[in-house]
Amino acid sequence: MAEAILLNGVALAADVKEAVAERAAAFTVATHRRPGLGVVLVGENPASQVYVRSKLKLARELGVHSVEHRLDAGTSQAGLLEVIAALNADGSVDGILVQLPLPPQIDPHRVIAAIDPAKDVDGFHPLNVGRIAIGLPALAPCTPLACTVLANSVHASLAGLEAVVIGRSTIVGKPLAQLLIAASATVTVAHSKTRDLPAVSRRSDLMFAAIGRPEFVRGDWIKPGATVIDVGINRVTSDGKHRIVGDVAFAEARLVAGAITPVPGGVGPMTIACLLANTVRAAYALAGLPAPAL
Ligand code: NAP
Repeated sequence: MAEAILLNGVALAADVKEAVAERAAAFTVATHRRPGLGVVLVGENPASQVYVRSKLKLARELGVHSVEHRLDAGTSQAGLLEVIAALNADGSVDGILVQLPLPPQIDPHRVIAAIDPAKDVDGFHPLNVGRIAIGLPALAPCTPLACTVLANSVHASLAGLEAVVIGRSTIVGKPLAQLLIAASATVTVAHSKTRDLPAVSRRSDLMFAAIGRPEFVRGDWIKPGATVIDVGINRVTSDGKHRIVGDVAFAEARLVAGAITPVPGGVGPMTIACLLANTVRAAYALAGLPAPAL
């Protein structure tokens, strides 16, 4: 049996990164300053620390200036809102990213709503969510954006394709469904109450798995030749060894799918590239320059 094409997120993100670096350099020439990203990390969640480090590293590589705020786990909501107000007012900062999750004393909705929507490079502000839902240009959330870029690396157009998004979270499933609708795919959003998920999955040309359960989607759920984008990041331990696996049983799925993302090395690297793409896009818009497409 033929194996699926491997959608190598690291290699595919290289094109996005190159474009972002070129646009960041052109922005610097035009405005005499680099695009700027403000990153806020509250507490010491180890996964969040890893994500923030890789975001700051890529910013440096692509010519984006970054400002980092590391706040104590006990920071109050008011304290965090003050930091956001300062970043909103800072003319050298074009994008603001507050790494989630936040400690329990802080309401993430309140914090996200306090970010200037023009600097909301995570695309979680209600204004950007609403603009995407009504088909207006907006900063789109990075992981859903990454999923569409990966799908477009196989299908120049998603128009008319049957797509299933498994998961309806606010940060992945729902915004991804909106982007796919905007791209004219025929979209089914599945979740824990969906009846006969394998049957729903099997009719899809495009499968996006954003569930958070290791290897939940089996090979026989996949339509032969389908494109499978696995968003899941699950830490598992077997035979005393720690591994990261996706939401799709990769070894089985690879024998049925036409193209598939690996975990790690699929959606993750593309997501970070999309964050920097959003930052540069926000910088152009704030400077009143025509916004470059991704
Ligand atoms: P989440 O908020 O926990 O949402 C999970 C979704 O999966 C929910 O909508 C839930 O349905 C659905 N689900 C749970 N069990 C199910 C089942 N048995 N059958 C069908 N659907 C089921 O998770 P998330 O934040 O969207 O993240 C999903 C995964 O993506 C996680 O592994 C996360 O680590 C990963 N992730 C990766 C990136 C990246 O850049 N690669 C970014 C973000 C997240 P209900 O709504 O009915 O409960």
